[in-house]
Amino acid sequence: MSLELETTKSEDFVSTDEISLLVIILDTNPGQRLLRENPQTLTQCVDSIIAFGNSHLMQKSQNKLAIMACHSKTSEFIYPGASKTLDIRQIDGQYEVFTLVERTIKTNLHKIIATENTILSNESLLAGALSMALCYIHRIQRNKPPGCKLNSRILVVTGSGDSAFQYMSYMNVFFTAQKQNVVIDVCALDQHLSLLQQGCDITNGLYLKIPQLQGLLQYLLWVFLPEPPIRPKLVLPPPVKVDYRAACFCHREMVDIGYVCSVCLSIFCKFSPICTTCHTVFKMPGPLAVKSKKKKMKL
Ligand SMILES: [Zn+2]
Ligand SMILES: [Zn+2]
Repeated sequence: MSLELETTKSEDFVSTDEISLLVIILDTNPGQRLLRENPQTLTQCVDSIIAFGNSHLMQKSQNKLAIMACHSKTSEFIYPGASKTLDIRQIDGQYEVFTLVERTIKTNLHKIIATENTILSNESLLAGALSMALCYIHRIQRNKPPGCKLNSRILVVTGSGDSAFQYMSYMNVFFTAQKQNVVIDVCALDQHLSLLQQGCDITNGLYLKIPQLQGLLQYLLWVFLPEPPIRPKLVLPPPVKVDYRAACFCHREMVDIGYVCSVCLSIFCKFSPICTTCHTVFKMPGPLAVKSKKKKMKL
């Protein structure tokens, strides 16, 4: 009993020096099905993200927020912006920081959309955005004042699919995040994302495909606002079974069973005598399967 009391005390003491950094990656690619069918959806998503980001800042004065817009060709930080901070005065009694968040996001997003190519692609560079977010977190981690603890997490909000073309980049990002103790949460707006779901599982994050878009803000506040250490105490949507299929390196398609290079662990859907990744040469299995079995038996 006394032990328990002691631990809670020390946790309270530490928590004053803890900073929570939340990086939100919002998929703003106009090529995704949701936005192609109804471009107004973007406004609703952006408003929900702003309200959600402000709620995160409201929880603690030390909390930090960064928001990225992910497109089909680029990913950019829309908050905090690269340009000079806007001159914000208090409007209607709203806390200036919240007004600043809203203004910066809308101005920067407007710039990105205005410069966007008219050629639509339904694939967003989510893996690239995730690695940029990890670099950003790393920089903040390095520059933080000594003695304070930084808890970082990334939330991906996307309506596009996760293509197996980015499989390698995704896996690199997921395992880097796991090493750096960065939690990756994913909020799928439109379709099931099996690769990103693997990322959530690897980094102990939450994956949720929201049942209806109208309730986006409510789902964000309910599921993704609480810090990861608090989550086990809450009643959250039950975890879904993770689809751990891998994508083959030759065609970038998801495979159930495939060939794995014994040297570099690359995955192939068909046998190839030379591994395209590490150039290891393998013996052809050939039609002499019976003989080779006998040889193996002798060994
Ligand atoms: Zn293949
Ligand atoms: Zn290999």
